Amino acid sequence: MKKYFGKFGGQFVPETLVMALQQLEHSYLTVGKSRKFRQELGRLLRTYAGRPTPLYLAKKLTARGGGAKIYLKREDLLHTGAHKINNAIGQALLAKMSGKRRLIAETGAGQHGVATATAAALLGMECDVYMGSVDIARQAPNVYRMELLGARVIEVASGSRTLKDAINEAMRDYTASFETTHYLIGSALGPHPYPAMVRDFQSVIGKEAKGQFAAAEGGVPDALVACVGGGSNAIGLFFPFLNEKVKMYGVEAGGDGNGHAARLTGKGKPGVLHGMKTYLLEDRHGQIADTHSVSAGLDYPAVGPQHSLFMEQGRVKYAEADDSEALSAFHLLSELEGIVPALESAHAVAFALKLARGMGRGKSIIVNLSGRGDKDVDHVRKIEGER
Ligand SMILES: *Cc1c(COP(=O)(O)O)cnc(C)c1O
Repeated sequence: MKKYFGKFGGQFVPETLVMALQQLEHSYLTVGKSRKFRQELGRLLRTYAGRPTPLYLAKKLTARGGGAKIYLKREDLLHTGAHKINNAIGQALLAKMSGKRRLIAETGAGQHGVATATAAALLGMECDVYMGSVDIARQAPNVYRMELLGARVIEVASGSRTLKDAINEAMRDYTASFETTHYLIGSALGPHPYPAMVRDFQSVIGKEAKGQFAAAEGGVPDALVACVGGGSNAIGLFFPFLNEKVKMYGVEAGGDGNGHAARLTGKGKPGVLHGMKTYLLEDRHGQIADTHSVSAGLDYPAVGPQHSLFMEQGRVKYAEADDSEALSAFHLLSELEGIVPALESAHAVAFALKLARGMGRGKSIIVNLSGRGDKDVDHVRKIEGER
């Protein structure tokens, strides 16, 4: 497998982790490509996770846009409420079939921790999730959910006591335990082979959407739109369309309007973080910046390395939606279509509406609705109560 996407990606890790990553790559290329693995993964995605997800023509949203048809790829209907389960089950099954008995993960908002704990319960594996104490306090319901699923949540009280520190602890654990343990990374990022492996597990989204669109309309859509946190739901939708004449748009979180989590459209620069070379946000002192967005899932200072390459090549265009645009889209989709989207996905919906207007009738867009908004209802109610 290639370690780089152009000049991005790579394996910027201590010597002690290189062996673990080599072993993982080997498992992925052997076990992960075997017929037995693919059949079992397909079965679990169908019978447990709820695939295939529908491709839904949102007629009222389309009418509101007044231009291109807007289709929604309904990843929000999956078990645990988002696309994250595609990758969690993929990696957990790979680990189990490669002889591992324990999963570790790190989580900020808790969504990836819940997906990992779910996959561990499904496959009968031990599960430890690292989480900063600040995040533990903020995300109490998800902490309980993970424990309910049989996982152990390990508090990280060092540094800024958030996701960054939890990642460091998870890497330390993995270095010492990789003979029995798999480190389940939640987005298309980190050292090689994670970005490619996670992309492949999420590509089920684009493969399904391609077939469903061809059946509904014939041909391929004119544009694809997805939100970009680490970039896994976006690359999962885009990847199977890369060789088609389709425009692609990744939507970053503009935060309160000052481009706070916009790495590709904002002030990001190439650098090295969490084992990869990619675009990331630094502060004036060259430290990793504190990002901010209304949606926790888009609030990461770096982006998956293949997105950095797509941006430089111009293959994918990156845009921003800010907090208030996302909140408007959150309401609009709920009222018009009866679908409460995750705040992350609401960023994609907000951008798609503008795009649809500009494209005009006779064209079509697929928007990846990466998750459902139940987790965000309380948060939105509170911030709107404050206003
Ligand atoms: C985690 C999450 C995201 C962001 O992650 P990506 O890897 O960029 O897809 C987006 N939407 C939802 C619903 C999420 O839970």
